[in-house]
Amino acid sequence: MNAAKLTFTAALGFICCSFGSLAQTDASLPPHPRLLLNEEGVQQLKQRVAAASWAKASWEQLKANTEKALLSPVELPPRGGNWSHNYVCPTHGARLSQGRKIGPWQWEHICPVGDHVLRGDVSKATLDFDGNAIAAIHGAYAEQAVNDGLVYQVTGDKRFAVRAREILLAYAERYLKYGLHDNQGKSGQGGRVASQSLTEASWLIDMAEGADLVWDTFSQNERELLAAKLFRPALDQVILPRRLGIHNIQCRHNSAIGLVGYLLGDEKLIKIAIDDPAMGYRQQLAKGVHDDGMWLEGSSGYHFYTMSGLWPLAEAARNCGLELYNEKYRAMFDGPLNLAMPNLTLPNFNDSGTVALRGQSDLYELAFARYHNNAYLPLLKDSERRGRLALLFGVVDLPPCGPSATTGCRNSPASGYAILQQGTNTDATWLCLKYGPHGGGHGHPDKNSFVLYSRGKIVGTDAGTHAYGSPLHRDWDKTTLAHNTLVIDETSQAPATGKCIAFGTEHGVDYAITDAGPIYKGVKYTRSVAMLTPEVIVFVDQVESDAPHALDLAYHSIGTWEIADSSPVARSWMPPDATGYKHISRAQARLIDNGSLDLRMKLEDGWFSCLSIAAGEPIEIISGYGILKTTEDRVPILLQRRHAQSTAFVWAICLIGTPVKLRVSQAKDGSGNSLPLATAALVQANAGKRQWALLCNPARLPLVAPLPNGALLRTDAPFAVR
Ligand SMILES: [Zn+2]
Ligand SMILES: [Zn+2]
Repeated sequence: MNAAKLTFTAALGFICCSFGSLAQTDASLPPHPRLLLNEEGVQQLKQRVAAASWAKASWEQLKANTEKALLSPVELPPRGGNWSHNYVCPTHGARLSQGRKIGPWQWEHICPVGDHVLRGDVSKATLDFDGNAIAAIHGAYAEQAVNDGLVYQVTGDKRFAVRAREILLAYAERYLKYGLHDNQGKSGQGGRVASQSLTEASWLIDMAEGADLVWDTFSQNERELLAAKLFRPALDQVILPRRLGIHNIQCRHNSAIGLVGYLLGDEKLIKIAIDDPAMGYRQQLAKGVHDDGMWLEGSSGYHFYTMSGLWPLAEAARNCGLELYNEKYRAMFDGPLNLAMPNLTLPNFNDSGTVALRGQSDLYELAFARYHNNAYLPLLKDSERRGRLALLFGVVDLPPCGPSATTGCRNSPASGYAILQQGTNTDATWLCLKYGPHGGGHGHPDKNSFVLYSRGKIVGTDAGTHAYGSPLHRDWDKTTLAHNTLVIDETSQAPATGKCIAFGTEHGVDYAITDAGPIYKGVKYTRSVAMLTPEVIVFVDQVESDAPHALDLAYHSIGTWEIADSSPVARSWMPPDATGYKHISRAQARLIDNGSLDLRMKLEDGWFSCLSIAAGEPIEIISGYGILKTTEDRVPILLQRRHAQSTAFVWAICLIGTPVKLRVSQAKDGSGNSLPLATAALVQANAGKRQWALLCNPARLPLVAPLPNGALLRTDAPFAVR
């Protein structure tokens, strides 16, 4: 094993602390403000602005925007907002953007694909685009209340306290008049200001922080009014009844509950938020974070979404004398650095887009202030420290920073990511094989799928997620076909947890073998991936079932097909009427009896890849186009189709566009019987002038394999290279 290899767990090695919370009652709590910043935090903010030009620039910007907002009257929308996932073009599945205002609480909405402008229709949630604009206005008022409170605390200028008071009291007067409504537009449930408890909680966090910053300006009567007509009903009617267990949404709920508890000095609320035995803050970290630091939903987006939901409570508790920044929370900052691609981007597994860690640098400002881990420094430097958390919590004098990305191969059994990486800097080739826990409601049926990155780009793709309101989410993103893995009988895999069988390096070849787990009844599917060089990756997909099935091995790439005229004659191929498949277009099929097939694609101008497929047994090769970002964003899909009970697919990706010569042969067991390829496969690979013999033996049988040079390889290792 390469010295550079390490498991995430070993790298983190955290200790889980548990503190019993002492009772925190109004009498024992420090004076307001005590949520976002306490008195000391306000003093530190003043010093930061005085000492650092980046902080001064941010502060001046915040102050100017807040001052400007004073000029427009507080005019609350007539109704609550719509769900962000409904803000998509019903024709193209693309996210809309807001155009010009065309009437009271009415706007134009622009589709980026069809070059057409849409109008909202309040009668249907999926068309209530004005409701999305209204959601943004509610959010902006809550944010304004916080900013007004901050400017008031730092400058003492009462105009800003007046404005924050005005916003808060207006909502206290209006809140209960907004009808409960949900993401589908159904009334009587969901939220009031927002269409779901999650968004209501985010809004309430800001409202509580804003109220806390100007709390000294409210009379006792006003405080009671805010509690009775805004804060408590939001908790009692929208947030507290939705108990979600270990869930990213619950983390945000907990912050809303805890912040209102700290605001009102309500010990019971504080206890629910932090210590609820099923879903409090402590349980979220103890049960929701894998021991590699990654959030259990297996989605990069939700990982950070969860983290940003956790810190408001951790800060408020800290301001009130309770330390919630434990080692498990720290692991959530460390884990993504180990998972990231060489350009510091996280893959879009499960319901997620890709996440650029540089885009999260502001969260790492807070992390550095609390944990002082120098591994976060490159992110801080790159962001030029322009974010809000840098302004509020950033450390003024940072130590010098080292290299920014994790290098070498690494395997994380906890989340189920085996990462093979060769090459240098952002040009390196990185492949992440995914075999871990399904990830709950945000999981995708994609065991043994992978994302492939090279030269600064994702080459082998995962569709990630479209907006949840788009039909593509259900009909494409959540199908196995949309992933780089095995589909059986045109039906998606069952949610499953796989396992890593082998991971290591031999003769300069990095490899991983993973078992997909119980994805189909009576089927065993193992994938061996061998990164021979930064340009050549060989896959051996071994499938064994208790009955014959239609097997489709899918691969999705960026770019366009460039199939040579010399390749075997193709016939056009009509996709079956099965979920996912009907989105395949311009497909051709080629039948290969033996030998091999090389198909080229253009990844971008001047950059080609080549897929080489060793037939061994008859195979149908289908090349067509699948979906990336929208129904118009078509990218190559390859299906290797075979009807079999037991088989091995042997194929390679060459990232410099030249064919890899592949030859597959059988190995023998100790008694001299030939083993089926699904059990053991010896693969000879030639690329350029180099040659490798790879033996894939996931069941670890003692076997004998004839090497190309005539020698016999005797081993019971799951993987061998000669
Ligand atoms: Zn459109
Ligand atoms: Zn996916």
